[in-house]
Amino acid sequence: MTTCIYWHRNDLRLHDNECLVRAIAEYDYVIPLYIVDPYHYRVVEPGFKKAGIIRYRYLCDTIEVLAANYKVIGGELIVRFGNTAEAIMSITQKYNVTAIIYQKEIASEELADEDSVRAMAARLDVKCPPVWGKTLYHLEDIPYSAETIPLTSKTFRINTSKAASPRPLIAKPSTIRTPAEIQSAKMPSELEIGYTDHEIQSHTKSNYPAGEDAAIERLEYYTFGTELLTSYKWTRNKSLGMDYSSKLSAFLALGSLSPRMIYHQVKQYESKIKKNISTWWLIFEVVWRDFFIFKMLRVKSAVFHEGGIKRKDVKWSYDKALFDRWKEGRTGIPFLDAHQRELSNTGFMSNRGRVNSASFFTRDYQIDWRWGAAWFEHCLIDYDVYANWMNWHTQAFEIYYTNPVHQAMKYDKNGAYTLSQIPELALLPDSDFHAPWLYTPAELADLGVANYAPPVEVYTKWTRAVNNIVKARK
Ligand code: FAD
Repeated sequence: MTTCIYWHRNDLRLHDNECLVRAIAEYDYVIPLYIVDPYHYRVVEPGFKKAGIIRYRYLCDTIEVLAANYKVIGGELIVRFGNTAEAIMSITQKYNVTAIIYQKEIASEELADEDSVRAMAARLDVKCPPVWGKTLYHLEDIPYSAETIPLTSKTFRINTSKAASPRPLIAKPSTIRTPAEIQSAKMPSELEIGYTDHEIQSHTKSNYPAGEDAAIERLEYYTFGTELLTSYKWTRNKSLGMDYSSKLSAFLALGSLSPRMIYHQVKQYESKIKKNISTWWLIFEVVWRDFFIFKMLRVKSAVFHEGGIKRKDVKWSYDKALFDRWKEGRTGIPFLDAHQRELSNTGFMSNRGRVNSASFFTRDYQIDWRWGAAWFEHCLIDYDVYANWMNWHTQAFEIYYTNPVHQAMKYDKNGAYTLSQIPELALLPDSDFHAPWLYTPAELADLGVANYAPPVEVYTKWTRAVNNIVKARK
C-alpha cells in the first residue's frame, strides 16, 4: 500500500485539480494537508502582520469548505500549525509516506518553502513532484521559457493566444482514500496566530463568500444567472456594490476557483448568450493575471527591490505619520479615503480604487512602494503575491500618474460610492464632497462636517479637476 501527502497551498479546491487527480491515481492513500506556518504571519515592515485578521478569517472559511468537500468524497483534510517542512516531515514519518505532491509556486518565499520540503524529502528518500496548476495557460503550453517571457503583457497575450489554448477541465474526483487513523485538526485560533484582542474584537468577518462552492455559484451568477457579464466592460471601473465586476479574485487567489473554469464558462456563455467586448475583456483580465505570474518566473525576486526590476534610484519617503494617514483613509481626498476605509473594513477594494491608491501613494506621498504593497498584502482577502506586487510595481515604476480628483469626478460624480463610506460629507452641496478643502474648517463645521481634515497638500496638478468640481455647482 502506498501513501502520499497532497500539500495544499493556494489550490483549495477539488475541481480542475491536477495535483489531486494525480495523487489519487498514483497512490493507494492520499493525505490532504494544509499547513499554517507562523512564518507567513510574522510582522513585516512597517510594523504589521503579513496577513491581517480579515484575510485569516477568509482563509479559515475557505478551509472549512475544502474540509467539508473532502468528507463528501470520503476523505479527511488535515491541518497542521507549525514550520512547513517539519510538519510535513512528521506526517511523512508517521504514515510511511512515499511522495509529497504540491502545486508549484514561483515567488521567493513560496520557493523557499518548497526548497526546505524538498531537502527534507530527499533525506527521507521521498518523491516530491511539483505540479503546475495556477494559470489559465499551462506552463508547458506557452511559447516561452522562463528567460524569454516578455516584459509587456500585450506581447505575452497575443503570442500565447496564437500558440496555445487553455486545456480542458479536469473532472472532480468522486472518491479518495485517506488513512483511517488520520488525525484532522482545526485551523489555529486567532490568538494562537498572534492577533491581539483589539484586532479580534474590532474586526468583523469579510462579507465575501468563501470556498469552491461559493466560487462556482458566483461564476454561474455573474454569467448565466444574471448576464452581468454582458456589460462588464462598462461597469468594471466602478466601486459600489457586488456586481460591477466579477468578484472572482479571492477565489482565484486561494485557488478555490480554477482560471480554466472561468475561461470555459465564458466560452459557453459566448456561444449560448452573447459574445461581445465584455466577454473578451474578462478573459483578457484573467490572462493579465497569468502574465504577472509568468513574469515573476523571469524577473524572480528582483520585483521586490525598492528600486523595482530596473533598480531605479528613487528617494522614497519613510514618513510613518503620512503612511498612517493613507492606510487609515485620512488623506483628506474623499475618493481615496473611501476606498482605504472599505479595504480596512472588508478586505476588498475595487480595481479602480487600487490603481488610484497606489498611484497617490507612490507619486504624491512618494512613500516606499513596498510599504503600500505590504499593507494591501495584510488586508486583501484576494491577496496574491503575483497580482499584488506586480501591480504595485507597475504603479510605482511603469505607468502614468492617475489624478485622484479627476478620477473621483469621472467614476463617482454623484458620490454614491464615496458617500457610502464617508456619509458625513453628504452635507456638502453638489459634487463638493469630492473637494471638501474648498471650505474652511469653520465653514465645514457650520455645515455639520466635523473631523474631516484637509489634505497635507493640494497639488497644482489637481487644479483643473478641482475647477471642474466648482463648475459643476448648480
Ligand atoms: P474582475 O475585473 O472581474 O477581473 C477578473 C479577474 O481577472 C480578477 O478576479 C483577477 O483574478 C484578474 N485580474 C483583473 N485585473 C487584474 C490585474 N490588474 N492584475 C492581475 N489580475 C487581474 N488582484 C488580485 O487578485 N490580488 C491582489 O493582491 C491584487 N492586488 C492589486 C494591487 C494593485 C495596486 C492593483 C492596481 C491591482 C491589484 N489586483 C489584485 C488586481 C485587481 O485589482 C483585482 O484582481 C480586481 O480588482 C478583483 O476584482 P474582480 O475579481 O471583480 O476583478
